[in-house]
Amino acid sequence: MEINPYEIAKKQLDIVAKEIQLDPNIHERLKYCHRILTVSIPIIMDDGSLRIFEGHRVHHSTIRGPGKGGIRYSPDVNINEIKALAMWMTWKTSLLKLPLGGAKGGIKVETKSLSRGELERLTRRFTVEILNFIGPERDIPAPDMNTDSQTMAWIMDVYSMHRGVTTPGVVTGKPVEIGGSLGRTRATGTGLFYIAEAICKKCNINLSDLTIVIQGFGKVGSVIAEELYNIGCKIIAIADTSICIYSNDGINIKELIEWKNETNDYRELKKYQKDNLEKIPNTEIFKIKCDILIPAATENQITKENANNIDCKIILEGANGPTTPDADEILNKKGIIVVPDILANSGGVLVSYFEYIQDINAYFWDLERINKELKGVLLKTFEDVYSLSQEKKVTLRMAAYILAVSGVAEAIKLRGHYP
Ligand code: NAD
Repeated sequence: MEINPYEIAKKQLDIVAKEIQLDPNIHERLKYCHRILTVSIPIIMDDGSLRIFEGHRVHHSTIRGPGKGGIRYSPDVNINEIKALAMWMTWKTSLLKLPLGGAKGGIKVETKSLSRGELERLTRRFTVEILNFIGPERDIPAPDMNTDSQTMAWIMDVYSMHRGVTTPGVVTGKPVEIGGSLGRTRATGTGLFYIAEAICKKCNINLSDLTIVIQGFGKVGSVIAEELYNIGCKIIAIADTSICIYSNDGINIKELIEWKNETNDYRELKKYQKDNLEKIPNTEIFKIKCDILIPAATENQITKENANNIDCKIILEGANGPTTPDADEILNKKGIIVVPDILANSGGVLVSYFEYIQDINAYFWDLERINKELKGVLLKTFEDVYSLSQEKKVTLRMAAYILAVSGVAEAIKLRGHYP
């Protein structure tokens, strides 16, 4: 049965609302997205035919500042998914105490079937359709699944052309040549690595001795794989949409990344040939015994149907919303530590925030400063979440949600009700 991500997101909110006895009026308000825009995007394809694509941009909350969240291109994009992702962004920016709200966008499209020209026209026309919805003071998009720094460059260009002024602060995750930040491309994976180190320290285990399984080998999955490989971890399985590759001796991540970067096209793992690798269906990934499991693909992957099969010590959520609340309960009973998405993958939005303030100030930091500030904020947030979970004897997800939702609730209370 299809799982509705927005229902899941609301259920997670209900669970924490009960725990913190959230004011029912504030609870009610947070169940709704503030603004929802759905657009049709007409594109002339390379063969001269016209195709209409559907796109969305959603602001869940701008109570604490402009909306912030990625733009995703995927055939699975639908309004409930985008609403859920926008709500999760509200919690993530609040947990990090950034002066930002939560937003998300996406287009329902299979990018592999489009030429580069078609993709560019699609992005540019989408930008025009959402032009009045975004902006440095309103809502600042960033890359997500199947979008990248080039996508952001096109958005920034269209926005700047229409406004008549070059406006780098309208998006983050841009190329550095046009106002992007050093370290943004790797920030989510690097942040995951810092969090992996922190949780292992708490559990008194040595990260470099561990075996790792990763679902998703994109911007997030490939970076965390590389970081862990570099310190000696054994990455025994990786899955993408095509297949799962497996090796009991560990996959050589350096070679795999070199192969992946050989062309500009998206390379599916099923095409990767190495003698020591087994290929199994990608749905088998959650049956593989390991120390750390990293879902870094998409939402609703760990469900009550497969959670019982999972055999690991720690789950580090690289993806947004990879675990359903039913599955969470099962994992908790099994004693598996789940480091929740809004904490684990928040390095991405954090460096996006650094990019945004660098753009506004027209003053750019070096990579050393970026990584120092990234590590500093993430580890402080991790400590806050971890100590609250110990104090209240709740899961790390519950602790993170208590801090995140309380922050938004406090802002609503202080701003008061209008009119
Ligand atoms: P990406 O498009 O670069 O990579 C996604 C990867 O997941 C690809 O390898 C794809 O084949 C795989 N995948 C997708 N669906 C799958 C499925 N059902 N089974 C197996 N593999 C599947 O995307 P990304 O930017 O790496 O984002 C991955 C996740 O991380 C998303 O949930 C995204 O919202 C989240 N995230 C991304 C960032 C960021 O900075 N890019 C930040 C925070 C969270």
